[in-house]
Order: sequence, then C-alpha cells, then structure tokens
Amino acid sequence: MDRIPLCCLPTPLHRLERLDLGVELWIKRDDLTGFALGGNKGRKLEFLAQEWLNASPSAIVTCGASDSNFIRQLAVLGRMLGIAVHAAVMDLPYDECAGRPARVSNLHQGGNERLSRESGATLHKFSDDDWEVLYDHMHRIAKDLGPNAAIVPIGGSSPLGVYAFVQAAKEVGGEFDTIVCASSSGSTQVGLTTAFRGTSTKVVGIAADPEPALVEDFADLSRQYTGRFGGKPLAPEDFTLDLRFVGPGYGVPSDAGQNAQAVLLRSEGIYLDPIYSAKAFAGLLKLTEEERLGNKVLFWHTGGLPSLFSEYD
Ligand SMILES: *Cc1c(COP(=O)(O)O)cnc(C)c1O
Repeated sequence: MDRIPLCCLPTPLHRLERLDLGVELWIKRDDLTGFALGGNKGRKLEFLAQEWLNASPSAIVTCGASDSNFIRQLAVLGRMLGIAVHAAVMDLPYDECAGRPARVSNLHQGGNERLSRESGATLHKFSDDDWEVLYDHMHRIAKDLGPNAAIVPIGGSSPLGVYAFVQAAKEVGGEFDTIVCASSSGSTQVGLTTAFRGTSTKVVGIAADPEPALVEDFADLSRQYTGRFGGKPLAPEDFTLDLRFVGPGYGVPSDAGQNAQAVLLRSEGIYLDPIYSAKAFAGLLKLTEEERLGNKVLFWHTGGLPSLFSEYD
C-alpha cells in the first residue's frame, strides 16, 4: 500500500535498564512517531492520507472524545492536505452497559482539544452519552456535509489502520514473549495480533474502556481487514484484552495508572499519558508481578502525551 511519509520510522526500540521488574523489559517508542506530537495514530494516518489524496473528499468526518489524540493528528493532516476536518465529540462518552465513569472530574479543556481547535478542526460538541449516540452524530454531520465527505472511524480503526500496525510489527523481531499495548478502538491490537499470529509472541491489550464486548468489535475489524487484504480473520477469543486497569472509566485517570506513570518517569525519564499508556503500564506492572508475561517483554508506548496538559476544573 502507498503511504504519505509523515512519521519518523522506525520508532526507537530500546531496553529499559533501570527499571527492575525481574524480566527483560523493552519499549517501543511510538510516543516518538514525530507527526503532530507523536503517538500511534500517525502510523494509521500515513495510509489514510494517501487514500484521501487519491479521493479528494470535500471534508473528513470522525468522532471521539473531545481530548482525542486521533482528532489532534487528523486536524493537522487536514490542514496539510487542505481538507476540512469535522469531529463529533463528547468530553466523556461512555458505554451504556458499563455506565458513566465512577469519579468524573470536570474536564475544562483537554490538551489535545486545544491543539485540534488551533489546527482548524471543527469540533461539534455534544453532552456526554453512549458511544452509539456519538456515532449517530458523526453520521448525521457527514450527511449534512454532502456525498463527498469521507467518514473515518473513531481512532482511525479502519482496515487501513489495521494494515498500518501489521506493517509496524515488522519493526520488531520475533524475540519477545509478550507485547503489551493500550487498546481502545482496536486497530493497534488487531494489527499487532494479526502480525504475530502463529508465532511465540503473545500480544496483550490493556483496555482503556470498560467493555468486555470490545473483542467482538476487534473480530469485526479483523473481518473487514481480511476482506480487503486477505487472510483468515481473527476470532474474539484470539485477542487477549485485560479489562482490569480501566479504573473509574474511559477518559478518567486511574490511581494505578498515575502510580505506573510515576514509576516509569522516575526510573527511566519517560512520560506516559493518563488515559491510555499509563493504564497499560499499570497492567504491565501487575502482569509481571503475576508472572504472566514471560521473560522478554515489550511495552508498546502509544503516545498521547498532550493529555498531560489537560485542565480540570
Ligand atoms: C488511540 C490510542 C490508543 C489505542 O489505540 P487503538 O488503535 O485506538 O486501540 C492507545 N494509546 C493512545 C495514546 C491513543 O491515543
């Protein structure tokens, strides 16, 4: 697949020597992808950008939390391509079954949200509700913009988003027992799991959302991917998704995550974001303690650092 090079690839892959967890610990630095402040979404946008250059949509429409990392990077890309970006957003969208986050601090303005607005994206903000309601808003906005508006799924989790992470896996050898990453809209974990299927490397996603049914969505995304690129789709049971580290809910920092963030910062000088990577690293700390990750472990840092600058009332 053609791509527009936006990121600094391959991202650094290095050992964490100072943090002694009793395993050989490595880190993949997708916080340093370089495009529009980094993070895992840059990889997906390289392939999406090529598609948009070919199709020249009148606008690009997506949705997400108002502090979305994907919308921040998409906003910058839209600017570069000269295509308007619209996003349906909620401060703290939630899953109706799981309910609203237990401890809702009032997000005044997210760090990503500020950057998305400054980059010229139009954020259509709705009051907090179920994710399905947010998706409906996105489709209605796209409809209002006319037939040439392109919709990109939340988090860039389209088949091309999966493809980007199947490619990303090639930057890593097969020597790891486990790869741990934060997981939400799914293309990161679906891509890595696709790439390492049938090998001795196990991919473990740490959920940022309290939704056990997410693995069904991941299987669905895998079907879409294989429908376009070939191969056998992954089933829900092919995904290891640990839901124990979501804390109060999607978009709300957790105590374990904040502790994990301090551990990595103090030992290695590396920041984690509070919404995804800190919770994922909290999961890694716990899973190594439970001796469930093997001897050689890779933490895939997915970025998200502008959320460190979010302001709460
Ligand atoms: C979007 C995001 C994730 C989750 O990646 P998905 O491909 O959406 O599952 C993890 N970490 C950060 C910082 C993100 O922005």
